[in-house]
Amino acid sequence: MPGSAATGATTETGAGTATDRQIARAEAYSAHNYHPLPVVIASAEGAWVTDVEGRRYLDMLAGYSALNFGHANPRLIAAAKAQLDRVTLTSRAFHHDRFAEFCAALAQLCGMEMVLPMNTGAEAVETAVKTARKWGYRIKGVPDGRAKIVVAADNFHGRTTTIVSFSTDPDARADFGPYTPGFTVVPYGDLAALEAAVDDDTVAVLLEPIQGEAGVLVPPPGYLSGVRALTTARNVLFIADEIQSGLGRTGRTFACEHESVVPDMYVLGKALGGGVVPVSAVVSSRSVLGVFRPGEHGSTFGGNPLACAVGLEVIAMLRTGEYQLRAAELGAHLHAELGTLTSSGAVTAVRGRGLWAGVDIAPSLGTGRAVTERLMTHGVLAKDTHGSTIRLAPPLVISKEDLDWALARLRTVLGV
Ligand SMILES: *Cc1c(COP(=O)(O)O)cnc(C)c1O
Repeated sequence: MPGSAATGATTETGAGTATDRQIARAEAYSAHNYHPLPVVIASAEGAWVTDVEGRRYLDMLAGYSALNFGHANPRLIAAAKAQLDRVTLTSRAFHHDRFAEFCAALAQLCGMEMVLPMNTGAEAVETAVKTARKWGYRIKGVPDGRAKIVVAADNFHGRTTTIVSFSTDPDARADFGPYTPGFTVVPYGDLAALEAAVDDDTVAVLLEPIQGEAGVLVPPPGYLSGVRALTTARNVLFIADEIQSGLGRTGRTFACEHESVVPDMYVLGKALGGGVVPVSAVVSSRSVLGVFRPGEHGSTFGGNPLACAVGLEVIAMLRTGEYQLRAAELGAHLHAELGTLTSSGAVTAVRGRGLWAGVDIAPSLGTGRAVTERLMTHGVLAKDTHGSTIRLAPPLVISKEDLDWALARLRTVLGV
């Protein structure tokens, strides 16, 4: 309920509060690879979280889309609890009775034929890279060691050494070399640049259909369908990283659907684990994923019974179409409301689709980080990116009333 939110939440928690003690301990004992907002969450339900002081906040980030179905979704928690009492881990050395069911259901949801389950998003992207290279050598006939993958500038595909090798973000990349070769970076949304980069050794084009970390960048109309036409014509795999854009976020199951595009491979993660466990997967055709033989790729935890049980429930929920519809309807409302902020001058641009928005704040109003800190004191949790942008991506289960409450808080913080 908006009325019961902790409007008095403040960053000035005074020495010795539970919040201060937790943050000081985290800073002492954990690597500083994040700069979290000064809130310490103790429990959560739906779109709301409660901190260690009992203050409530509306979660407008939803774990970067890992929490599309909200915190502690009753269907997902029930599925996880039931599986906990049966069997949680077998390793892939043996079959288990949720595996086939999960893979079949996920392939069907994607309109594809085969699934290779992993855990984190980065592992799924690594799997996609390995699959594309092997497909290139075995099926396309690219000479050994020459396979090339074309990616977009400002991408975010994860944090492994190979993936940061083709990042253009200096923070993500610097000091982590030597880098994995075999990637060509072209500007996002530029079909001519992509076409010029594709050659006979190109095995794949790897893209986010909407770039999330870059600031929720939607490519120009016709870009994704152009990529599809180009990759088909040049016998190159079109790999869509839908880890953040997929599974309902944009108002469709996949963001590619907005341009009626079907890639050769979906890379999925985040929401696939229902906010309960890490579940990721590569989903493709038999002719592509069929390149793997036993021993050539794997994961101890990938496709484990708990992951499959939760993933199956996620798929069943997506099959109802209810969450995609909510994201489309509430998203239209969100974007209409955010549009009114641009006319006020407080916001210089708004991008996105469905319940997903990148909001560029007028520089005079402070950095994106400063705005998220002020939003926090007003009971709204959001995340900044690239200096002046804030990202809004609430759980798809958020009520219209709560969404309006968050927008009112944003107006207050921006002084409009
Ligand atoms: C989050 C994300 C990843 C990486 O997922 P992890 O689970 O953090 O490894 C990859 N691609 C995209 C588009 C993402 O948003």
